[in-house]
Amino acid sequence: MIRRVVLAGAGHAHAHVLKAWASAPVAGVELVVVSPYALAPYSGMVPSWLSGTYRFEDIVIDFPRLCEQAGARWIKAEVAGLDPQHQTLILSNGACLQYDYLSLNVGSTLVPPSGAFRAQILPMRPLADLHDRYEALLLQWRLDAGDQPLRVAAVGGGAAGFESLLAVLRRLRLERPDRVVHGALMTRSQTILPGYPPGAQRAALRCLREAGVDLQLGTAWCDSIGDCSDWVLWATGAQPHAWQRDPVLMGGLTVSEQGFVQVDSHLQSVSHPNVFASGDCAQWVSPLPKAGVYAVRMGMVLAHNLQAALTDQPLKAYEPQSEFLSLLATADGKAIASRGRWSLSGRWAFWLKDYIDQEFIRRFSSLQLPSAQAQGNIR
Ligand SMILES: Cc1cc2nc3c(=O)[nH]c(=O)nc-3n(C[C@H](O)[C@H](O)[C@H](O)COP(=O)(O)OP(=O)(O)OC[C@H]3O[C@@H](n4cnc5c(N)ncnc54)[C@H](O)[C@@H]3O)c2cc1C
Repeated sequence: MIRRVVLAGAGHAHAHVLKAWASAPVAGVELVVVSPYALAPYSGMVPSWLSGTYRFEDIVIDFPRLCEQAGARWIKAEVAGLDPQHQTLILSNGACLQYDYLSLNVGSTLVPPSGAFRAQILPMRPLADLHDRYEALLLQWRLDAGDQPLRVAAVGGGAAGFESLLAVLRRLRLERPDRVVHGALMTRSQTILPGYPPGAQRAALRCLREAGVDLQLGTAWCDSIGDCSDWVLWATGAQPHAWQRDPVLMGGLTVSEQGFVQVDSHLQSVSHPNVFASGDCAQWVSPLPKAGVYAVRMGMVLAHNLQAALTDQPLKAYEPQSEFLSLLATADGKAIASRGRWSLSGRWAFWLKDYIDQEFIRRFSSLQLPSAQAQGNIR
């Protein structure tokens, strides 16, 4: 009898699973991938796409193509809930999909404030939605016949808020050198880039100063920010999708208080061992920061564990890296590099970031992408 493994979400971890499956498929198993978008952006390159350094097509993994290479079935649809008792995934188009094993790698979302603000709010997650919203705003900006300064505020002082504000300011100023663009960054915390070493925080402050950003530490969101800005980049903490927060739609699958799928060290659901979860949508044994580097590393363990579960082999435990190299693009052709307590910044750091990121994308693509450096489009 044919067994079915369903991968829900075209996330970083599932890209690894498909790559591994392409070279070592398990006989008698149908692999199915379900995700609403064919092109999955690689998070590390998103800020440099926002700044205009990369084209969108340079930063995405083409999932239908990856599925073809792995002999997997691609279904363009959105998960709306699940019924783990009956091993069924419920799709938003009303269809149901049975599985023997399910793996969730559906990322996270943001819940931006609702209300009648003057500002247009641009949530930084989900990444796939960001493309259309950002392109629409850029088009408006190109056509804007006014002469008033544009006020752009970022809410959130972590890596996403910091990098995306610098990137967006750079892009808006390049597109319209005739117009003034003001930038502001608001964060509830008392420091920029909490958790980063002091040297990286100082470098970040320098970059914000050079970009003319008004930094407001210890500032929580209030409606007046929405009324005093034209654009608000919403980059606060990651949240689970709405259906993950609804116990009925999750069918009793154990989730954390926030709604992230609780998994053990093997990335298996603590309540239903034939369900795996990884990346932002999962809550590991102890909560991890929501960052792509964890999703990528989980992918290697997940690829092994799915195959091991199907062939009755021992599963591997995922061990999160205690330190990793972080490279933050500062939209001026440079980046801030840090690891543990160490940090340095400069042009070389962006070259290194560009090399690592392009290598990552190349691994999942049979297309040979010319590097941004070779195209001479690193600004
Ligand atoms: C602006 C920005 C910059 C960032 N930069 C970095 C960085 O430099 N380094 C870093 O480590 N992290 C970075 N992050 C964090 C990073 O984006 C996330 O941690 C990472 O993308 C999580 O990977 P994932 O595989 O869990 O999910 P994702 O990469 O978000 O993939 C989730 C997938 O699931 C799909 N999906 C969503 N909902 C459903 C559904 N209902 N049904 C089916 N499929 C669904 C999505 O379309 C997508 O394909 C950044 C985040 C932002 C917002």
